Amino acid sequence: MVKKSNALICLLVIVLLLLPACGSNGNVNENTNGNTAGAEQEGVLSAIKERGKLVAGVKFDTKLFGLKDPGSGAVEGFDIDIAKALAKKLFGDESKLDLKEVTSQTRIPMLNNGEIDLIVATMTITEKRKEEVDFSDVYFKAGQSLLVKKGSPIKGLEDVTKDTKVLGVKGATSIKNIEDKVPGLKVQQYQNYQDAFTALKAGQGEVLTTDNAILYGMTVQDPNYELAGDIFTDEPYGIAVKKGEQAWVDFINASLKELKSSGEYDAIYEKWIGEKPAVE
Ligand code: GLU
Repeated sequence: MVKKSNALICLLVIVLLLLPACGSNGNVNENTNGNTAGAEQEGVLSAIKERGKLVAGVKFDTKLFGLKDPGSGAVEGFDIDIAKALAKKLFGDESKLDLKEVTSQTRIPMLNNGEIDLIVATMTITEKRKEEVDFSDVYFKAGQSLLVKKGSPIKGLEDVTKDTKVLGVKGATSIKNIEDKVPGLKVQQYQNYQDAFTALKAGQGEVLTTDNAILYGMTVQDPNYELAGDIFTDEPYGIAVKKGEQAWVDFINASLKELKSSGEYDAIYEKWIGEKPAVE
């Protein structure tokens, strides 16, 4: 009887000793099974490969970055060429790409709904946005500025008061940036940049504010308008993806690096911006 209970205790001790070992084995398995974890993280990337097409959220309203020609239906710009280059990295064919229109306001919901695989749309990397999406490395550097009609008395931010009629676009960083800098100012907000520019041209405002690069595009569309003053914020653009898609972010960052080292990035930059990117 005594022997039996001793044996039972021994067995119990052995089981208890083995349990943590099993646990750590389990952990080792989880770690070495990085492939399984990787496959989960690779969700979007493998879904894109399986689908055979990249679905990119881009602007249709922003000359130089993403603008749709209403006649031909073609969408063109810096961001479009970056999206094409990513499609080429994925499939060896830049035409394996669907371009879906996003605005500054709709881009994050569309990404997180799964309607698009990524956002390449003049989007500034901010700490606040990082709560909702992940970003690639910086692929373009802009800064906020002002657009006015030539001859305007407004020569820079110092001339903007709370009573100045300032126009902007919903969902853009530009709204809060300028409202913080000019206490009491309330920006009149539009759905997209073409609507805001139309309103400026119709005299519904004195100033349109957003990134300098976007405003340059408007001066190309209508040379009666010019930028006023220096940039007053830093707007580093990143490509946004759903949170937690590390393999997808890594793929995009590796592609951006390759585009930079091959000279392809510089060629795209020069094509749209008219000069070589500043050397860092
Ligand atoms: N880069 C700024 C932003 O991400 C302004 C341009 C835009 O509205 O996309 O909000």
